[in-house]
Amino acid sequence: MLTDLVQIRRLGEQKRPENERLRRHLKTHRYVERRLVQIAHDIQDRIDCAQCANCCRVATVQLIERDIPPLAKFLGISEARFKRDYTMPDDEGRLSLKWTEESGCVFLSGNDCSVYEVRPASCRNFPHLVKGEGPVSTRMWQFIDRACYCPIVYNALEAWKPEVGFKG
Ligand code: SF4
Ligand code: SF4
Repeated sequence: MLTDLVQIRRLGEQKRPENERLRRHLKTHRYVERRLVQIAHDIQDRIDCAQCANCCRVATVQLIERDIPPLAKFLGISEARFKRDYTMPDDEGRLSLKWTEESGCVFLSGNDCSVYEVRPASCRNFPHLVKGEGPVSTRMWQFIDRACYCPIVYNALEAWKPEVGFKG
């Protein structure tokens, strides 16, 4: 199992074209959805996110309205103040947690999430391999990028390839 983040970045980028072909393969071939989810689940169980936290450094987190009340309550501030101080629009104008290239998510402290108990839904379900809307084939576009920084996604895509008869 590959967990080195430098290697994941290098190999994830190198395999981008191959992973695009995997995406097309999944759209045009039959595969057993629950097998792919089970494989991803097993890999997720074997990787310690607390040792990694790379998604909190690399990815921005989009918020949904119901993320906000528990976060504001946890911080002891109003929802309006939470939005002012802890959110920003992402590239497409959607409400996201504040993020900077130097430090990642505003709530990241070392490798720990300082709002872990009330973290947004998107963080709870990340990287959305096991829990996500729709079949894996319609969500593959997200995983090609994530395979460049998330060890769970990188290893899951590699394990899916022989499972679905993908030859490269
Ligand atoms: S809220 Fe917590 S889990 Fe979510 S990105 Fe920020 S630090 Fe990571
Ligand atoms: S979800 Fe992926 S990138 Fe995020 S902490 Fe876990 S292994 Fe690392």
